Amino acid sequence: MPRHTVARIDLENLRHNYRRASELAGSARAMAVVKADGYGHGLARVAGALADLTERYAVACLEEAVALRESGLSHPVLLMEGVHEAEDLKLCEAEGFIVAVHDQHQLPWLESSPARPEVWLKVNSGMNRLGFAPADIAAHAMHLRRLGIRVTGAMTHFACADDPASERTLEQTRRFEAATSGIEGLSLSVANSSAHFRDGQPMFEWSRPGIMLYGSSPLLGTQGPDLGLKPVMTLESRLIAVRELAVGEAVGYGEAWRATSPTVMGMVCIGYGDGYPRHAGNGTPVRVRGTRVPLIGRVSMDMLAVDLTEIPGAAAGDPVELWGPHIGIDEVAARAGTISYELLTGVTGRVPRLVR
Ligand code: PLP
Repeated sequence: MPRHTVARIDLENLRHNYRRASELAGSARAMAVVKADGYGHGLARVAGALADLTERYAVACLEEAVALRESGLSHPVLLMEGVHEAEDLKLCEAEGFIVAVHDQHQLPWLESSPARPEVWLKVNSGMNRLGFAPADIAAHAMHLRRLGIRVTGAMTHFACADDPASERTLEQTRRFEAATSGIEGLSLSVANSSAHFRDGQPMFEWSRPGIMLYGSSPLLGTQGPDLGLKPVMTLESRLIAVRELAVGEAVGYGEAWRATSPTVMGMVCIGYGDGYPRHAGNGTPVRVRGTRVPLIGRVSMDMLAVDLTEIPGAAAGDPVELWGPHIGIDEVAARAGTISYELLTGVTGRVPRLVR
């Protein structure tokens, strides 16, 4: 008996968003970022749907790259966090995985391994997460090439590109350019989704769009559709109970919402156990029977409450949209004090993903 709490995945919208990224990338090629199970949409599903559009994929780790091969895709794959053990280098060489090398401790692995995988160097241009100091990039490239390793690219990651007013992105780009200029034969890559929307941003050879492929906005205070993006995931559920509350009656744990007028209340069978954010507070929009209504009270593990007073006749079984084409995920994320990335990757295994 289905619970009717599902995530519908619109692969045509995914393809639309990839084309948008590609158009904004100009002469750069957009490699589809499909890590974290394709941002919660299903790795093989989204990668397969983009297989004829993208020339390569980017993932975080080896397990994800292997899953791409197991799904039958033979494109080059960039491992953005590199490998975690020397012995993984053999598999990378055999499978055509490009290893982002980002830390001193990985160099002896490359020196001592018989494997010669393709390598990109990660430059720490200011985010201070991963990467070598800009001043050391040329020396590392030369050293690795002397060992017979194919160093074919360099990348960096922006800390503040979600804020269009931030000067940091330009500073990081300049440092990256200075670090890599004069090194022959490198493909360069800097741009995450937000950088695609920055006027004048150099895109170099490869961009790395992630969140925009899934239809969410990478920019603070903006919704995906404002940027020409279409939502890929629609999170849907059903009403499973409708009741009337008298003035003074409260709903749910902690009695976090109390009726100040007679209220018709509905229970929706989705909660934080499905990945709906517990921190979405009173007033977060939910769509029932084509009408936006407010969430009321605390989100429970398996259900949440909505105020149906404005929808005469609302009844158990009515479909509910939690986010999707009518309820922007960026709006829900803002209400919950988080970002769409966390919501999308947080939808749990209990929720079936259904392709439209
Ligand atoms: N490049 C790197 C190194 C990343 O870590 C990520 C995601 O976190 C991306 C690109 C894609 O970023 P976004 O999803 O903001 O486009």
